[in-house]
Amino acid sequence: MKKNFLLAIILLTLVSFLANCLVKDDNNIANQNYLLSGETLYQVSTINAMLAGNFDGARTFAELKEQGDFGIGIIHALDGEMIALDGMFYQLNVDGQAHPVSDQMKTPFAVVTFFETDESLSIEDGPFSFSSLQKSIDALRTNKKIFYAIRIDGEFEFVRTRSFMAQEKPYPKLLKVLRSKQPFQRFESVKGTIVGFWFPKYMGGIRVFGYHFHFINEERTRGGHVLDFRLVKGKIEIDRTPKIYIDIIAPKEFE
Ligand code: ZN
Repeated sequence: MKKNFLLAIILLTLVSFLANCLVKDDNNIANQNYLLSGETLYQVSTINAMLAGNFDGARTFAELKEQGDFGIGIIHALDGEMIALDGMFYQLNVDGQAHPVSDQMKTPFAVVTFFETDESLSIEDGPFSFSSLQKSIDALRTNKKIFYAIRIDGEFEFVRTRSFMAQEKPYPKLLKVLRSKQPFQRFESVKGTIVGFWFPKYMGGIRVFGYHFHFINEERTRGGHVLDFRLVKGKIEIDRTPKIYIDIIAPKEFE
């Protein structure tokens, strides 16, 4: 009897130890490098959390950089948009200025991957509109069920952008921010890079369906969330990414 009791105590201790290990791992998921694969996207939070106004930074850029060298997102408190390419991460401010982010800064919502070119297409004899180029990219996307990372380097007749303005607590809902008067930027005769993704419709609630692009100029000093552009010449590269890891951040009120 005493032996069984002792055994039960040992078992219980073991179970609670293992459970503690699991909880610890869950809390440190962004520090684990098991996602280090060019075939996987790593996303912080969801569009639904953003729509509800959860703009507090959840992961540091030091953590984000471990999961990818290419991507887009937003900055803590909606203080501008983010673009990452070739391992460099930039904050794109409401006035169209681009600044490198520090490792300690945080993002509430971002998606990154290690970009590896699967298909590329040279564009000559432009200019081509945003909508006609989307058709060219559509043709490269042969599997409509997976995700695509897209990079466009080139010379643009113009690029029209906007970036979020920093918000104060209590944060408004995202749609209210989008409906408010936001300044737009227009970059004329500019060389630079567009970084973005395409997501299928079934990702509703996780991300917005379709294309989402951010732009930064060649000097890496100006940019924003892309509303429209015309590409004179350049190169489109796409990276097929069939997997996604979603780092769900529980909003504060649920903790
Ligand atoms: Zn954006």
